[in-house]
Amino acid sequence: MDLAHLADELVAALRAQLPDDVILEGFEVELGEHVGVDAEALRAALQLRVPGVDVQILKVEGLLRCLDCGAEYPADEAPCPVCGSARSEHAHGQELSVRRAWARPRP
Ligand SMILES: [Zn+2]
Repeated sequence: MDLAHLADELVAALRAQLPDDVILEGFEVELGEHVGVDAEALRAALQLRVPGVDVQILKVEGLLRCLDCGAEYPADEAPCPVCGSARSEHAHGQELSVRRAWARPRP
């Protein structure tokens, strides 16, 4: 996946949500383990686009959800540690979005 393109899209999405009369101070991006992007590389790419803004990356562990009992467990513990079922779906780990942002009023 193209890191520069991802960073552009995240910043564009963030700017679209911000009112015009505020100055962005910082934001937090949720990054799933299965997205395949290095957190530090993403942080650096974002920082280039918004100099002086506090960029934080929240890593989300990849988890599977059992289709039979609903338990969530790490992929390396498959099959389901609760009921033994091998039927599962990805529950977490695909996240890539701005989770929250903070800003101050423009003087
Ligand atoms: Zn189960």
